[in-house]
Amino acid sequence: MKQSKVAVVTGASRGIGAAVARRLARDGADVVVNYSSNEAAASRVVEEIRRMGRRATAVPANVSRVEELKLLFARTAAEFDRVDILVNNAAVFGACALQNMDQAAFDDMFELNARSVLFASEEAARLMGKSGRIINVSSDLSCMSMHGTSLYAGAKAAIEAFTRVHAAELGPRGITVNAVSPGIIDTDALRAQMTDERIQGIISMTPLGRVGTPEDVADVVAFIASDDSRWITGQVLHVNGGVLMR
Ligand code: NAP
Repeated sequence: MKQSKVAVVTGASRGIGAAVARRLARDGADVVVNYSSNEAAASRVVEEIRRMGRRATAVPANVSRVEELKLLFARTAAEFDRVDILVNNAAVFGACALQNMDQAAFDDMFELNARSVLFASEEAARLMGKSGRIINVSSDLSCMSMHGTSLYAGAKAAIEAFTRVHAAELGPRGITVNAVSPGIIDTDALRAQMTDERIQGIISMTPLGRVGTPEDVADVVAFIASDDSRWITGQVLHVNGGVLMR
C-alpha cells in the first residue's frame, strides 16, 4: 500500500489555508493544521479531515516567531516522522502609506509574510526525504502598484524570489518549490478590507466574471502538491480569473 503523504499547512484554520488542508486530505494526505489563535476553527478543519479517514492535528504557532515555527515542525516530526508537502500560507494584509511608515510596521509584515516562509522552508526541507513539495502563497499585489501596499507587496515579492532561489537549491534533492499568486479570493481577510462595491468593481474587470473562492486556489495547490507537477519548479502560478495576465 502506498504511504500517505504528510502535509503542513500554515494558517489552515480559515480561508485559503483551510480549503488547502481539506483538499490535500481529500487527495490522501495527513495534515498538520497550523493556526494562530482560532482554536475552534482549526478543530473544525481537523474534524472534517478525520471524517475523510486521514490523520490530522491542529498546532497553534505564531509563525512570525522562529522559535514557535521550530516547535511546529518538532511536533510534526514527533507525530508524523516526516514532511512531504509544506504550504506556506499564513499571512496578513496590511496597508500603510510611505509617509506613515515606521519600523514596527515593516518588521511585523516581513516577519510574518516573508521571514516565516524562509524558516518554515528550512525546517520542512530537513524533514523531507528524496522528494518534496514547497508551495508559497503569494499575491497578485506583488506585481501591482496599489497605493499603501508597499510592505505587503514587498513581502510577497520577497517570497517569489525565495521560491526561485529555493527551487534551485532544493531541486537536486527532488524537492520542488513553487508559488501560487491569488487575485481576490472570498475570505475573512478580503471582507475585512474591501467593500462589496469595490469587490464588484474588480469582478467587472475579471474575464471569468466572479470573485475567486478558497477552493479555486486549493485545487491549484493540490495539483502542484501532486506527482503530476513533477517537472514544474521555481514558478509563480497566477490564480485570479484572468484579472491580471503575465
Ligand atoms: P484569512 O482568511 O485571514 O486566514 C488567515 C489564516 O492565517 C488563519 O488561519 C489565521 O489563523 C492564520 N494566521 C494569521 N496570522 C498567523 C500567524 N502569525 N501564525 C500562524 N497563522 C496565522 O486569510 P486568507 O485570505 O485565506 O489568506 C491566505 C493567504 O492567501 C495569505 O498568504 C494571503 O496573503 C494570500 N492571499 C489572499 C488573497 C485574498 O483575496 N483573500 C489574495 C491574495 C493572496 P487564525 O484563524 O488562528 O487567526
